[in-house]
Amino acid sequence: MVNKNKAVIWLAVSELHPELTKYCGLGHKRARWGRAHSSLSLWKAGVVICVSLKPVRSGNWSRPGTSHKGMLALLYGDAEKPVETGARAAPGAAEPRPACTCDKKPCGCQKAEVNYAFLHSTDLLPACNGEITTMSFLQDIVDILLQYVVKSFDRTTKVIDFHYPNELLQEYNWELADQPQTLEEILLNCRTTLKYAIKTGHPRYFNQLSTGLDMVGLAADWLTSAANTNMFTYEIAPVFVLLEYVTLRKMREMVGWPGGCGDGIFSPGGAISNMYAMLIARFKMFPEVKEKGMAAIPRLVAFTSEHSHFSVKKGAAALGIGTDSVILIRCDERGKMIPSDLERRILEAKQKGFVPFLVSATAGTTVYGAFDPLIAIADICKKYKIWMHVDGAWGGGLLMSRKHKWKLNGVERANSVTWNPHKMMGVPLQCSALLVREEGLMQSCNQMHASYLFQQDKHYDLSYDTGDKALQCGRHVDVFKLWLMWRAKGTTGFEAQIDKCLELAEYLYNKIKNREGYEMVFDGKPQHTNVCFWYIPPSLRSMEDNEERMSRLMKVAPVIKARMMEYGTTMVSYQPLGDKVNFFRMVISNPAATHQDIDFLIDEIERLGQDL
Ligand SMILES: *Cc1c(COP(=O)(O)O)cnc(C)c1O
Repeated sequence: MVNKNKAVIWLAVSELHPELTKYCGLGHKRARWGRAHSSLSLWKAGVVICVSLKPVRSGNWSRPGTSHKGMLALLYGDAEKPVETGARAAPGAAEPRPACTCDKKPCGCQKAEVNYAFLHSTDLLPACNGEITTMSFLQDIVDILLQYVVKSFDRTTKVIDFHYPNELLQEYNWELADQPQTLEEILLNCRTTLKYAIKTGHPRYFNQLSTGLDMVGLAADWLTSAANTNMFTYEIAPVFVLLEYVTLRKMREMVGWPGGCGDGIFSPGGAISNMYAMLIARFKMFPEVKEKGMAAIPRLVAFTSEHSHFSVKKGAAALGIGTDSVILIRCDERGKMIPSDLERRILEAKQKGFVPFLVSATAGTTVYGAFDPLIAIADICKKYKIWMHVDGAWGGGLLMSRKHKWKLNGVERANSVTWNPHKMMGVPLQCSALLVREEGLMQSCNQMHASYLFQQDKHYDLSYDTGDKALQCGRHVDVFKLWLMWRAKGTTGFEAQIDKCLELAEYLYNKIKNREGYEMVFDGKPQHTNVCFWYIPPSLRSMEDNEERMSRLMKVAPVIKARMMEYGTTMVSYQPLGDKVNFFRMVISNPAATHQDIDFLIDEIERLGQDL
């Protein structure tokens, strides 16, 4: 049926309504008629123009039973003259039907069936008369997304429909082709993609520090995509630039900088925020590095704990400082940096003639959830005049909680802070802020004055053209999700959500600390939601603590994890650390998780690990 010379749009309207007749030129409006009339001429000339329709407000204007045949008749038959509204419709069709009252969510009632098999992306806007097809298509996309969203929270669905990479490659044709696909295939692509996606909002998904799916955050992300703009200037992102200003100031206030003064930026993740901190710290000490490079300055060294995030080293590599210049400070048995070791290593580096320029303390380490002693570290940084950075990518969220924020005491003395709202606060990925205490430093460090973007003779306050602070040119709008969620929840809403996650972690800890078959990786109540433990299968329980036991224990977590993924019931992370063999790291950042889900996780680990 599809012929290159013919633009064929299949008209598939399962239900008919007066509105429809208007759009097809059958109503009173001459303007509409004019458009449809030319369609009819084309039809006669051998070109079939079809309109795909779907109720915009589903559920109040259609009537089941009228097939698209009726609509075709309208286009094809005696429709050349405008006729009375509803004249062609089935009896009674003109009466609006009340919204459905079914309790199926999402409701799929009374949906007009649009046949996308003959439609292509070129039939969507900006195609001439593409409005209806576009709305219909996007509504179908939204339906797919809504079904996914609702399913994500359903405990009877799998967290993951696991396939091995080669299976998944063969399961479906993912290849890119020269010829366009139909919109039907595009919709299928979307369904397929979501079918194999990991349901990161599922109440039993514990695998990562960023979990959960916030409805307002999701809405904000959709809005952000629809607005599709770039953060570099006020000129093209007026509202978003202001919201970034307001939100960063609020975050700095929570850090404890008076009046929220200072600077900052939303960056593509905590790793980049940490790198920014390193970049700015270096610039503060040796501004000439911007023009002259590393050759012009002495050998720099940075300090961070052995439990810190690998991004500190990555940043050093990227900035030409080198990973050898990142000195790892020893931690106590709970993963907190030992301040006396920090001081010792600073003195040692100075003796060698190196210049200590940055200490990156961690507030909430990635595996243990440990909070470095920020006050003691701040004292040392002050004494040796070193930039103090706090990597609060994971732990920063606790600043929202009156009950837990003491764990970050001393953060207000930092020169810069990384804080990822996309982790503990459940903001959709990605959303990470770097906060800097000294205003203007980011600007002088990074600005290049691109005159095609940042014209100095614009007619508004140029301080709102914040883009030159960034390393990036174009920058995604990350702030809106956080801002809208904050508006929707209030600070107290975030607080409640975070307190609940911490309470669940404590519940898990209390449940397994003395349970047969469990061993904690470190003693004591976890400070964050990280609960680190080994599951000891029955066969290992009476074994002596020797090498054989270690090597068998090392294999336990990976096997249980693989089984979890095959069954698709839950997901939790594991890793070795230092001299500790593979252990589970449970983290809770998903507000959808409940006590029952924690119970489920324990049962599942035991079910899957019994025979090992
Ligand atoms: C996750 C994490 C990072 C990196 O953040 P991304 O947003 O994944 O780049 C940095 N530091 C710590 C402590 C983290 O837990």
